[in-house]
Amino acid sequence: MKSMKLVLFTICSLVFLLSGLYDSRAQNFDNVSSIQVEDIFEELVAIRNDLHDNPELAGSEKRTSIIVKEYLQNLGLVVKTGFGGYGVVGILKGKIQNGKKVAWRADMDAALHTFNNKPNANPQAAHICGHDVHTTIGLGIANMLSKIKDSIGTVYFIFQPAEESFKGAKNMIENGLFKEIQPDEIFGLHVFPTEVGTVSSKPGELFAYQRRIKLIFDKSIDEKGFKSFFENTIQEFVRHKSKSAPWSLKYLTHPDYGLENPNTIYKNFFIIGSNIAIDKGNKKTSFECTYYETDSTRLETITKEITHQVENSKYGKYLLETSFTAERPTVVNDPKLTYESLAALKDMYGDERVTTFYGQVPYSNEDFIYYQYEVPGVMFLLGASNKNKGIVALPHTSEFMVDEEVIKHGVNYFSFFLKDRTNHTKVKGN
Ligand SMILES: [Zn+2]
Repeated sequence: MKSMKLVLFTICSLVFLLSGLYDSRAQNFDNVSSIQVEDIFEELVAIRNDLHDNPELAGSEKRTSIIVKEYLQNLGLVVKTGFGGYGVVGILKGKIQNGKKVAWRADMDAALHTFNNKPNANPQAAHICGHDVHTTIGLGIANMLSKIKDSIGTVYFIFQPAEESFKGAKNMIENGLFKEIQPDEIFGLHVFPTEVGTVSSKPGELFAYQRRIKLIFDKSIDEKGFKSFFENTIQEFVRHKSKSAPWSLKYLTHPDYGLENPNTIYKNFFIIGSNIAIDKGNKKTSFECTYYETDSTRLETITKEITHQVENSKYGKYLLETSFTAERPTVVNDPKLTYESLAALKDMYGDERVTTFYGQVPYSNEDFIYYQYEVPGVMFLLGASNKNKGIVALPHTSEFMVDEEVIKHGVNYFSFFLKDRTNHTKVKGN
């Protein structure tokens, strides 16, 4: 999940669940997951701790990729390396034929972090986005499924580098990922500040679209004055106006405003202005900031609107140029597959553990979309906070922590889930 510096932190369901099918699923789950995950839990926690203590930035995941490669090889998977840098692919072929081939993606890189937000501290690599947990869960799922080859089809494990730079998924694909593997569906997860033991997702856009905009002025502009103007006037574009700063953790999960409420405030928003960077050169002064927008149809007009506002202000005479410096698409979950997936998870784990989100998560994004351009896919958000333990899993913050029980839940939920998907017979046009 790519987040900004000041991040406030990331059904037409198939009702075919005859009671007999439900029973057999529950039984399979007991046999497949809940017992075995206890057997490997300590091992997985040790792997996670090791990855956590040895964080590697985007594009530098050499050590992590070797650990992943060797672990998968020891499980008996066919392993391919070198996709998009340090990307690793594990291929697990079960005995079920004619079922769907599914891919599971986990990202491996750490991010730069200024600990405790000390202004003069040097940023260091740290797993402040939970990708060490994602990698560990991916290995755990591979372990579980490698033990039940008789009852699964083909599962591809994609261990991706460089998510934080938004390059890893794209590079793996450009390096021939989907020539090597041909999944019918792809899934992945990101840890999330909801309570441990819960899993969530939504059809369509999961996060907001993200753009970085740059305004270049003549050097004689009054920087402080313009910054104040920008923060106060451009905010007029914000469609959800609230003096109570709604983009905080307590609102994300609030029953009235949060992501799980159909009337959530996160359904229709535009955020800008909290992260303006000023670069004063010899001849020019530039202002950069990122905005988040839920509506893709507005993306092209916002820059024009901002430019228009600035041109009509006293700062207009200094404006030389307005441009995008970064455009990032967002995760878009395949609607049918999302409803099917959430329904299957609810059948196994209960409605209280599996929730559908209505709003788009602010201040976060993910490069999982590049796989979704090629293959129908769903990204899940896995709860990793634990209020009783004082753990808040808000990525890209100095207080970011996860309850390590999240590893157990992630491995349990998605081992069974992937097994189930590979037992879905392919239907023409499906
Ligand atoms: Zn992340």
